[in-house]
Amino acid sequence: MALVVQKFGGTSVADPDRIREVADHVARTQRHGSDVVLVVSAMGNETDELLRLAMAVSTTRPGREMDMLITAGERKATALVCMALADLGVPAQSFTGSQAGFITDNTHTNAKILELRPDRLRDALAAGKVPVVGGSQGVSLERDITFLGRGGSDTTAVALAAALDADSCELYTDVPGVFNADPRLVPDARRMDKISFDELLEMTATGCPKPAMRSVEFARNHGVTLHVRSAFTWEPGTWVVEEDPHMEHAIISAVTHDASEAKITVTGLPDTPGVAARIFRTMADEDVNVDMIVQNVGAEGVTDISFTLPFADVDRSMAVLRPLCDEMGGTHEITADQSIGRVSVVGAGMKTNPGVAAKMFETLSANGINIEMISTSAIRISCVVRQERLEDAVVVLHEAFELGRPVS
Ligand code: ASP
Ligand code: MG
Repeated sequence: MALVVQKFGGTSVADPDRIREVADHVARTQRHGSDVVLVVSAMGNETDELLRLAMAVSTTRPGREMDMLITAGERKATALVCMALADLGVPAQSFTGSQAGFITDNTHTNAKILELRPDRLRDALAAGKVPVVGGSQGVSLERDITFLGRGGSDTTAVALAAALDADSCELYTDVPGVFNADPRLVPDARRMDKISFDELLEMTATGCPKPAMRSVEFARNHGVTLHVRSAFTWEPGTWVVEEDPHMEHAIISAVTHDASEAKITVTGLPDTPGVAARIFRTMADEDVNVDMIVQNVGAEGVTDISFTLPFADVDRSMAVLRPLCDEMGGTHEITADQSIGRVSVVGAGMKTNPGVAAKMFETLSANGINIEMISTSAIRISCVVRQERLEDAVVVLHEAFELGRPVS
């Protein structure tokens, strides 16, 4: 018998009607001859609300208690979904992450899965029941409840699909799949029928919000076929699969954007070995995830370095960089720029097609959009531009690479 893991996000189980619809869909999937394992997120915005509550009550917010609080959202949803299934005559059983066998490290609020022992889920399946598992949670070796972080339910689902050797993992959400640009900015953005793991990983790393990047990485590493689809229209969505080496690729598959980063520039640093090493060691020790890095050619013994980092980490980074640069000497100056945006084009076909960078830069230039930084991978080119031109950049690149709906 086929086995499918179905994960439902917060909006898919936001209210009693939605929960009953999800139960209907599970019953339908069973009738079509598949066993189902369910993973559910907290209802609607409940995770945000629990976080707000914690902020209102406490300034210290101990990690252990935060995880106990946040995981209650998913736990509530599992029980309600099981009740809706029971009403349809579908036997189901709810499981917390701990009961489902998710053993994690003890990094509260952002725990990593160490091991998965889904014995109780296998027993439930063997007894003809639908296991309904709380997303994004587990238990640490210290036997404390842990939360896998925001968006962690996708990872729960993918990990279960891998461990139970499921035929596929369906991630149900409030959009009909993965789009080749943000449909809120680009009216003729298209839902993709299929995309490779590598391309989707680059997309999620450069601003595509769903699915969670960590789950895509896990799926790729474990060969889990993903299907990102709508829990509102139930139509087929986007399949995420291994790249087919025999297939011709579209040169560009998608345009992504991200306005959540800022840029720090240090000018006038001594051009000697160890300067970059010390700056980025300091950032790493502060746990700041640096993204693009540009160092200028040194002239007259001095050099400039710019890099991008999450908006939220700017103040903290400036505070540690100032004394460090004083120590390193030179006539340096440090500035932070919070109004940048990054636009990226992603496509496996660019590996074998020259001219993608030229076309991207020409398109931006033709529209008077200045490029401030550039970075590339084998299948992605990103440009930092002024944030107020970011949306324009997405629109003109989507058009230039002919990613709109085919005219019918
Ligand atoms: N409910 C949690 C969140 O919103 C976990 C998840 O849905 O993946 O981040
Ligand atoms: Mg959620």
